[in-house]
Formats: sequence, structure tokens, C-alpha cells
Amino acid sequence: MWTRKSNLGYNALKSADLGIHKGATKLSMALYKYPEHLTKSDDAAFDQIHEPGAQAPHAGIYRCVACGLEIGIAQYHTLPPQDHHQHQSGLGRIRWQLLVYAQHKK
Ligand SMILES: [Zn+2]
Repeated sequence: MWTRKSNLGYNALKSADLGIHKGATKLSMALYKYPEHLTKSDDAAFDQIHEPGAQAPHAGIYRCVACGLEIGIAQYHTLPPQDHHQHQSGLGRIRWQLLVYAQHKK
């Protein structure tokens, strides 16, 4: 799922494709069911803001800082470009922030 290249030229799936956020609320957020499988972290990786088209340092879910849209992406793949989705005027441009990352080690 992570590595399939889309016909849009980047290796990311909109969270809707992943079934991650389908809430009825205006501000949708990533969901999970089993808290024992997630751990809160103060890793500085969560503080970094990534430009569109930058390389994703971790596999996981990133959110648009301006509008909250979430995408899933594989490690080292290219984050979606500036024209990935439309913003209302005044909302600012697309920039990506890590929301959840996958740990590959056991
Ligand atoms: Zn956005």
C-alpha cells in the first residue's frame, strides 16, 4: 500500500484512501482503536515542518499544517506537492508535519 506509485507522480495516499479520517466533524483527526499499540513520544521529528515535495524522513501519517488534511506515506518518499489539494484563501500554503510514524524495528 505504501509503495505503489500513484498516477499523480508522488507516493502518497490521501487519508480518505486509507480510511483514516471519515468523521462528520469539521476538524477531522487521525483515529485509532487500541491505545496499547501507540506510544506518545517527544521525538523532535514531530516538530519539523516539511515543504511540499520534500522527502519524508519517516513512514507514517503526515498532516497539512494549514488545513489538517492527512496523508500516509512511505519512508523517504516524496511528500505531496503544493497543488496536492486546494486551500481556502487566507489559509496559507501546504506544509507537512509528522503525526504518527511507523517503527520498523522489533
Ligand atoms: Zn492543506
